[in-house]
Amino acid sequence: MSADIDFTGQTIEAARRSLTNLLRAGNIESPELDARLLIGAALNLDLTGLISAAKRALSPNEAAQLAQFAGRRLYGEPVARIIGIKEFWGLQFTLSADTLVPRPDTETIVEAALECLDTSGPRSRTLRIADLGTGSGAILLALLSELPNTTGVATDISLAALRTARSNAERSGLAPRAHFIACDYASALAGGFDLIVSNPPYIPSADIAGLAIEVRDHDPLRALDGGRDGFDAYRIIAPEAARLLRPGGSLIVEVGHDQSKTVTGLMTAAGLTLPRRPKADLGGIRRAVIAQKKPR
Ligand code: GLN
Repeated sequence: MSADIDFTGQTIEAARRSLTNLLRAGNIESPELDARLLIGAALNLDLTGLISAAKRALSPNEAAQLAQFAGRRLYGEPVARIIGIKEFWGLQFTLSADTLVPRPDTETIVEAALECLDTSGPRSRTLRIADLGTGSGAILLALLSELPNTTGVATDISLAALRTARSNAERSGLAPRAHFIACDYASALAGGFDLIVSNPPYIPSADIAGLAIEVRDHDPLRALDGGRDGFDAYRIIAPEAARLLRPGGSLIVEVGHDQSKTVTGLMTAAGLTLPRRPKADLGGIRRAVIAQKKPR
C-alpha cells in the first residue's frame, strides 16, 4: 500500500489534503485530525507553523517520513503511537510499548475525583493520592496539576511504564510531588490516602481478539486483559482501597461499558459506601465508579 504514497514535491497544504483523502479512503475515523498530526510530526511543526508554511514544498526527507507515517496509520497504528505522544487533560504524555494511549474517556475519572474532593474542602489542601496501575501517569499527573499541595504515588507492575510515567512527571514539572513504586496495584503501599484512582485492565480475556486493531495490536495486553470476566482487578483493588483510604476518602475507578453495576457490588462487598452514582463519559457510558470509606 505504501508504494502508492508519495508526497514528493507537494506543498504542505497539498500534502495535508492528499493525506486526508488517503486516510478517508482507508476508513480511518478522523482523517483531517490524523493528517494534521502526522504532517506536524513529520515536519516538526505545530498547527501555527503548518499554516504559515502552507505553500512551502516538502523536502525529500520530509516526504519520505510522511509516507512512512501514512503507511503505518493505514495499517491500523494509532497516531499517538506513531508520533509517540498524546494529550490528556491539557498535558503532553509520551508513550511507550508498556503504556496505554490515554483516552478522552479517562478524563471522566479525573473529573469525578475532583468533584469528590471539592465537596470536602479547597483544592489547596494537602492531600495524599494513589494511582494504581498508572501506565503513562495520565490520571495521577492530571490530578496533581489541579491540586497544588497534593502529593501522589503511582504504582505499576511494569518498570518500563514507570519510567515513562516518571519522565512525563518531569516534563510537566510535577515530579517533585509524584512518587513511583513498582508493585501490583497497591501491594507495596501503606495507608492514609485521601483519594485512590485506577484505570485497571477490564476487558474480558475472550473479548480481546475482537477489539479494534488500534487497541488490540498496539496497546499492551497487560493493560487491557481483565481476566475471564473482566473483573479481576476490581476484586483486588476494592479491599485494598478499604485498607488504604482514610475515613471519608474516595476510590474512583474506570470501568467498561457494561461493568458499573458489578463493580459497585464489589465495592460494597469490600465495606465501601457509594456516595454518588457512577459518572458518565461524553458518550453517555457510566465510566467512573465512585466509592467511599465511611467517615469516622
Ligand atoms: N478503554 C480501553 C479500551 O479501549 C480499555 C482500557 C482498560 O482496560 N483499562 O477498550
